Amino acid sequence: MEFTGYPRLCPCGTGSNYGVCCGRLISGAAQARTAEELMRSRYSAYALGELDHVFRTWHPRTRPDDVSPAPGVEFIGLTILDIVAGGPDDDLGVVEFIARMRTPEGADEMHERSRFSRRAGRWMYVDGNVPDVAAADDTPAPRTIELPVQRSTRHGQG
Ligand SMILES: [Zn+2]
Repeated sequence: MEFTGYPRLCPCGTGSNYGVCCGRLISGAAQARTAEELMRSRYSAYALGELDHVFRTWHPRTRPDDVSPAPGVEFIGLTILDIVAGGPDDDLGVVEFIARMRTPEGADEMHERSRFSRRAGRWMYVDGNVPDVAAADDTPAPRTIELPVQRSTRHGQG
């Protein structure tokens, strides 16, 4: 895989080189260990037009036929706001983020709480919803999503 023409710094904003950050996930050289890593790689894939990665990391149950973003949208920044579970030992996770973009109509942003599940060992994007902050100006009011997060209950309780 070549990264010619891609920015040296990863679009997802970690400050890491693209090749060692989302690039290795987008190229398929590595798998995301956490829901956050997958979320970042999907953002970077959108930013770079790597829609194959967006498609194959989208759960088949919820995946649209066309994963293209709206025409003319340029992704310019990502902020992760919250992470629930989604670790290397979890099967489910939630990542809340704001993706900033430029559109033909001007600056815009997408605020979403995304749900991820691990399927056959691989993290997949399931779906997302918009937190109830759109009308509340600048006061973030993160909403708790009911998720059947599997805790390690099978170890018994003493
Ligand atoms: Zn990255």
